[in-house]
Amino acid sequence: MKTDQLLETIKQLVAIESTAGNPAGLQEAYNFMIDFLLGRDKQLTIERFERNGKPSLLAYRGATRPEKFHLILNGHLDVVPGKSEQYQARLEDGKLYGRGVYDMKAAVIAMADAFCEYVDKVPFALGLQLVTDEESSGKHGTLYQLEEGVRSDFVICGECGRASDKHEIANAAKGIAIVEVTLKGRSSHGAYPWKGDNAAMRAHDFITALQERYPVPAEETAASTISVISVRTNSDAHTKTPDQAVVKLDARYTPHDPDLSTLERFEAFIHQLDPEATISHVHDFSSPLYTDPTYPQLLALKAAAEAVEGAPFNLVQRNATSDGRHYGDVGNQACEFGIAGENQHADNECITIEALEQFRATLKRFLGQSSQPAKLANQVAATVAAEAPVAA
Ligand SMILES: [Zn+2]
Repeated sequence: MKTDQLLETIKQLVAIESTAGNPAGLQEAYNFMIDFLLGRDKQLTIERFERNGKPSLLAYRGATRPEKFHLILNGHLDVVPGKSEQYQARLEDGKLYGRGVYDMKAAVIAMADAFCEYVDKVPFALGLQLVTDEESSGKHGTLYQLEEGVRSDFVICGECGRASDKHEIANAAKGIAIVEVTLKGRSSHGAYPWKGDNAAMRAHDFITALQERYPVPAEETAASTISVISVRTNSDAHTKTPDQAVVKLDARYTPHDPDLSTLERFEAFIHQLDPEATISHVHDFSSPLYTDPTYPQLLALKAAAEAVEGAPFNLVQRNATSDGRHYGDVGNQACEFGIAGENQHADNECITIEALEQFRATLKRFLGQSSQPAKLANQVAATVAAEAPVAA
């Protein structure tokens, strides 16, 4: 696929307002990709999934799904809401601007192009997985497909997060725990506070104790963080103190964090802050993504990226997570490697055409090398020997 065609296809996909609040747009983006894939290759098998109004697909060669893929390319078609002009992608000074060009419609088209070109050339089961709910939860796309038995040795999430000046592949991402903590008190008349146990003040004390253990960092940190998202109390009169407060927390945690690595540990930690506090609702609890830095496919991808971009790549940990985490939960290896760009979720979201072409070239080089197993094995051995692994 030539660059002009690639850009035109990306523009068409960007023009579809595929936000969580627009189910017709999600469906349209999904249909667009099915048409694109079958337009390139009528013999492809496209397995179609849907849960909770979120369609997703899995494309591969052959009549039946392999028990375990060797490699899956994973992407999402949903975007966060943008201004109407952002859905008309525009080229300016070698950059492509538009909602979703960075996160991550351009990567989806580049992955689909590489997939179609290599699905018959690689000597292993290759899959392309496209979902429509990554920005909202990932539970009805990637996670649902995993619940339906999809597995892969290695997964490349073409997810953004890489800045233009960075040469990075993320082999780790913090886990996520979004919970509501309920604190009980006892109401009193507001004029007689000594007669009650004000739940708003318990929430204050709880947050103060939390901040002593997990202070707000002054700058980016590889350590776990816990943010307070909301505090609500239940008083129904101006003169009545509340007997219940609910504090919503967004925790991002590193592998093996003693306070957060399981829900039980998190609950025990909450009890240390207030013995009567309870976790009353779990919105999300997902493991960190972590792939061994010496994993051969990860190193082969790194070598391909280095050859294409002519610069050493670092393996890094991301603060936010992606659908790759769901693969970690079933023991499969995954990484995030996307197009370098700027302004994720912001009005001036963009990528450069150069970065787009580098991304596509890296995928093709990686897949091309994979079709020569002996050469690949030698390269990987040499790379492992030359570099110390990144610490967990
Ligand atoms: Zn994304």
